[in-house]
Amino acid sequence: TCMTQDEEENTGSDTLTGSDPSGGAGIQADLKTFSALGCYGMAVISALTAQNTQGVQDIHSLPSEFVAAQLKSILDDIAVDAVKIGMLERGEIIDQIAAHLTRFKGIIVVDPVMFAKSGDQLIKDDAIEDLKQKILPFATVLTPNIHEASHLAGVEKIETSEEMEVAAFKLVELGPSAVIIKGSRPRLAGRDCLAIRGASKALWFESEPIVTNNLHGTGCTFSAAITCFLARNKDIVTAIKNAKDYISLAISEGSKYQLGHGRGPVHH
Ligand code: PLP
Repeated sequence: TCMTQDEEENTGSDTLTGSDPSGGAGIQADLKTFSALGCYGMAVISALTAQNTQGVQDIHSLPSEFVAAQLKSILDDIAVDAVKIGMLERGEIIDQIAAHLTRFKGIIVVDPVMFAKSGDQLIKDDAIEDLKQKILPFATVLTPNIHEASHLAGVEKIETSEEMEVAAFKLVELGPSAVIIKGSRPRLAGRDCLAIRGASKALWFESEPIVTNNLHGTGCTFSAAITCFLARNKDIVTAIKNAKDYISLAISEGSKYQLGHGRGPVHH
């Protein structure tokens, strides 16, 4: 959840995701991003992970009723402008969250978290269909990487810009107002494809790929930044453009980090 901290106008953003004790991804990345971008950040924790720069060692999922109770506490009391959804590991949690989202009228950014960069799976196999059917329809913006996009769109591979565009528009049909698929190495690095409902062609965002081992938390940080810019009343294209500038800076600043023995975090 996030809110902007303008004097006249409070903008609150709420993140709904897992905790990463190493501080690079999840709740920790989102709250740091909300703060950096002038939003009042709130956090509903869906799962605790034990992870570091080397991978995810363990996941402790919270009871679905308790995840819902956290969200209810916020929505009953505070005017939330935007919600960002990240790691939701189990179908029961997805059911509870979906029930609450029906009464939420603000911005909803969905980062359909499935796999960490380390390769560890962050969603149960049987919950992927729940995520697709019950959460995607609420999304103002959906932010899959190529891997997640091909899973959700049911396409075998995304290796070219054309395949990226087809998948993005397939995902728009599942309900989101806009879908941005984030390109990745080898062939689509730094090339992101945005499909907006009703548009006939995709918009492309290009950036110089930065070679670094420190990319842990890029997805979380990018979607949190989009959430903040939307909460601050930017339109979708501007919010994505600004978020892309922010994540590019976070990656280049973070490339100097020497944290841990594996894949280090982006700067935030
Ligand atoms: N851990 C948590 C709790 C997350 O929400 C995410 C989000 O994608 C990750 C780990 C994965 O981070 P990354 O893929 O950048 O390593």
